[in-house]
Amino acid sequence: MLNLVIFGAPGSGKGTQSEVLIAQYGFDHLSTGDILRAEIKAESELGKAAKSYIDAGQLVPDSLIIDMIEKVLQERQPKKGLIFDGFPRTVPQAEALDALLSKHATAVHAVLDLQVAEDELVERLLKRGQESGRSDDNLETIKKRLEVYHAQTAPIAQYYAQKGVHHAIAGSGAISDITARIAAVIDALG
Ligand code: AMP
Repeated sequence: MLNLVIFGAPGSGKGTQSEVLIAQYGFDHLSTGDILRAEIKAESELGKAAKSYIDAGQLVPDSLIIDMIEKVLQERQPKKGLIFDGFPRTVPQAEALDALLSKHATAVHAVLDLQVAEDELVERLLKRGQESGRSDDNLETIKKRLEVYHAQTAPIAQYYAQKGVHHAIAGSGAISDITARIAAVIDALG
């Protein structure tokens, strides 16, 4: 059972690559962004609390996210592996994930860090905004999300590098070429 974190800036292809990996390896997928958007749609208390942060391009507070992950993990019984997508996004979230996994005598096995140039990220997110109508895929919010990524999320790469599980993956080019780079890392995990 592999615990994988698909990591990278907004627009780096985490969701796209997760879908391919689910199909290719039969992994389960846990996207905090997808869960939060479903909570907003359901007008739950969590959804109401999260909406203003998401629309402003800010991170939802760690306490809400960590509680949410704890609940979701209790409900999931992944067999082959679990892809964490969009989580952790802060060092306290990474520490909380380690603590949760260690309770089950397991750990994060690999962090797949999709690296894409900033102008390409903006271009991809604007295109997605036109196609999906996601409320946070507009230029002002995209710029805020990238700022937040650099300030609060990117430092996690160092956290995982110190644990020896961080893998930089070139995230530009054909989707299948990027998948092949990720698959090489996963297959080497054994
Ligand atoms: P995503 O779909 O992963 O791009 O997430 C969309 C938005 O949901 C982010 O810009 C944040 O506002 C919020 N969000 C998703 N995951 C997290 C997380 N792990 N911690 C805090 N906020 C999150």
